[in-house]
Amino acid sequence: MKFVTPEQASAETVWDVVIIGSGFGSLFFLKRYLQKRPNDRILILERGRYNSSEWQLENRANSDIPPEQTYEHGEGSGKPWDFTIGLGGSTNCWWGLTPRMHPSDFKVGTQTGLGSDWPIDYDDLVPYWQELERIMLIAGSSEIGRVYPGTEEYPQPAHQLTSADEIMVQKGNGNHFPMPTAKLSRSVGARGRCCSSAKCNLCPVGAKFTAFNAMDETLSHPSVSIGIGCEVTHLDVEGGNVSAVHFKNAGREYSADCDLCVLGANAIHSPFIFQRSGIAGHGVGRYLGEKMLADVEVLLGGLDHFDGGTDSTAINLSIVEEGRSAEFANSIYLVKNNLMHGFRLEPGRWRQTLPITLYVEDVFDYENGVFDDGSDKPVVRFKDWSDYAMAGLDHAISRIPEIFSPLPIEGVRFLGIKPTLGHIQGSLRMGSSIEDSVVDAGMISHAVRNLCVVGTSIFPTPASANPTLSAAALSYRAVDQMLG
Ligand SMILES: Cc1cc2nc3c(=O)[nH]c(=O)nc-3n(C[C@H](O)[C@H](O)[C@H](O)COP(=O)(O)OP(=O)(O)OC[C@H]3O[C@@H](n4cnc5c(N)ncnc54)[C@H](O)[C@@H]3O)c2cc1C
Ligand code: SF4
Repeated sequence: MKFVTPEQASAETVWDVVIIGSGFGSLFFLKRYLQKRPNDRILILERGRYNSSEWQLENRANSDIPPEQTYEHGEGSGKPWDFTIGLGGSTNCWWGLTPRMHPSDFKVGTQTGLGSDWPIDYDDLVPYWQELERIMLIAGSSEIGRVYPGTEEYPQPAHQLTSADEIMVQKGNGNHFPMPTAKLSRSVGARGRCCSSAKCNLCPVGAKFTAFNAMDETLSHPSVSIGIGCEVTHLDVEGGNVSAVHFKNAGREYSADCDLCVLGANAIHSPFIFQRSGIAGHGVGRYLGEKMLADVEVLLGGLDHFDGGTDSTAINLSIVEEGRSAEFANSIYLVKNNLMHGFRLEPGRWRQTLPITLYVEDVFDYENGVFDDGSDKPVVRFKDWSDYAMAGLDHAISRIPEIFSPLPIEGVRFLGIKPTLGHIQGSLRMGSSIEDSVVDAGMISHAVRNLCVVGTSIFPTPASANPTLSAAALSYRAVDQMLG
């Protein structure tokens, strides 16, 4: 990798591209861009340090900058938000779960009267999901193509299911599938296969895809220069275009001139940069949210669990397939193969328990968001989950006995809602015009035409699926829309 000092970053006359942040949105934009324009001079400005995989394992942390040091809570809102500040962004801490969005997830506004429709459809992303599934060496079963049309054979076979999953696949309602994951089920080069140790933010064997074990070619490309410790503060806009990117390093201020600016600083910091640059758009910083994560434990009579080949073995899409209702949110069930809730206490029955994580979609509320109070940190306000999400949670729990009826269920215990699952979305959402959104269907700011926003901030609605495969696919599509 070619690291440059802040002085070198600001000395270049005009960079062809300045990319802000180096997480999923940024790196997949860069990867595609380099295929089309390999000779352009590209600068990445990354706020955090380069914390190598070895450093992360040794320090039991993904970064030396905890997320909560980078934002303030607004009055009355204490909800935490999780992400990595550092080179590679949240490719470091993520857990590698990669389902697609469902075709219906692009039409939440029409289906419920809540939230908005996307300005693109499922079919627009199919070729990009296919390509990203190949690049990220996703392990999975093409059987899931019944729900996600256009699914090809995955490059890696699915991880071993648990006995409970096998029963669900054989005797269930046809909506239980191996979870698609960016965790190897077969070793590749120096990367080991997943051994189900369930410490996935710090995978010890490199089974999980990260920027460092799978994107070295992109980060080390001769056209790419990387400034680390460079916190972008604001952009200069002249004549409807970004002309310069301002950043600080070790207390000093610098700027880098550019022809194209790509903003991928996550869904809390990207809108803050927008706000401090005075860039217009409907709801800049607003509509921030994430889906709800809740845990349940299904007590099994005489069936042992925890015999799968990875941390999260299966996804159940029954509720998604039934269709969306205005009464309650969509949700998916994720079968966990880890001891998150421990064993059962009864002698001889320790393994007769099935942890399920629920992902319940939410609709983004205008009042939830990122605000600039004039200090150097964004203020984040989040009232609470919507009634729609709470009703979705109740619905998902109430349906477990029926959907999982092939299993010997003795009881279902609700274990609570988690404060965050790290799927921060919204705040610079995508739409058809500046009256309803911040960026267009090609992820270009309606107001500033050489500013492309990447990452999960552009999601108008969160869906119940994990967002990152889709964010990467959207970055690829943005390059193709821009450069053809
Ligand atoms: C613990 C955890 C587990 C997760 N597991 C999954 C999963 O299994 N599946 C899934 O789909 N998603 C998962 N996610 C979510 C996933 O990580 C995010 O959806 C994804 O990383 C978002 O991509 P992004 O490019 O928007 O942001 P990021 O990947 O977070 O990248 C943002 C980048 O911007 C940098 N930055 C921030 N501010 C500035 C600034 N002012 N100047 C310069 N640089 C800046 C950051 O350091 C970082 O490099 C998980 C998240 C967490 C926290
Ligand atoms: S389960 Fe273990 S081996 Fe597999 S990705 Fe997670 S930490 Fe790595």
